[in-house]
Amino acid sequence: MKLNRFGRLQRLLLLAGASLIALVALGYHPTPVKAQDSQINQTATGSWLAASFPVENFQEYSSPYGPRGEGEFHYGLDIAAPQGSYIRNWWAGEVVEVIDDDRCGTGLVIASGKWEHVYCHMEGQVGQANGRNYLIDREGGIIIWQNEQLSAGVRIGRVGMSGRTSGPHLHWGLRYAENWIDPGTVLRAMYGEQTAALSRRLDGQ
Ligand SMILES: [Zn+2]
Repeated sequence: MKLNRFGRLQRLLLLAGASLIALVALGYHPTPVKAQDSQINQTATGSWLAASFPVENFQEYSSPYGPRGEGEFHYGLDIAAPQGSYIRNWWAGEVVEVIDDDRCGTGLVIASGKWEHVYCHMEGQVGQANGRNYLIDREGGIIIWQNEQLSAGVRIGRVGMSGRTSGPHLHWGLRYAENWIDPGTVLRAMYGEQTAALSRRLDGQ
């Protein structure tokens, strides 16, 4: 584990940097929900340090979680990034579903304990072999199998335009114990902890 010390600090710096840019933008769509905050505090056991921001080359939050008018509800956060930007696994877990439908397009559902994270509008196609679905994005050098175990922060695909979307973005959904959660709340919690941990490290070294 000695070997990891510098790597972890570097990773933390990277995460904090990415989150900082992302969180500044998040300030434009404040949608805190009390019930969700307490749920998150109970479940995360106070540590978001291992979590990864889900997109490289963050541009903006193009649509927040919440009501969209005409009785529609947006069960996720839209994160815009240039087409082809890599998507990273938010939290270590298992691929429980490889999605291929008209709305989500090419997508993944990854389960981490009681959490499920949903990724939509990705590049690539869905195939099947030996009774298992897989997502393949040849240009991005990505193949992800149903039931595969993934670490936090690994590249799991790229931002695309599949499904119902007017521009390249990641639709990122989060469920806890089958209840939808505002991903913005989780990103704020992650950012708070990662920033605090970073300043502790910089002070102590
Ligand atoms: Zn969306």
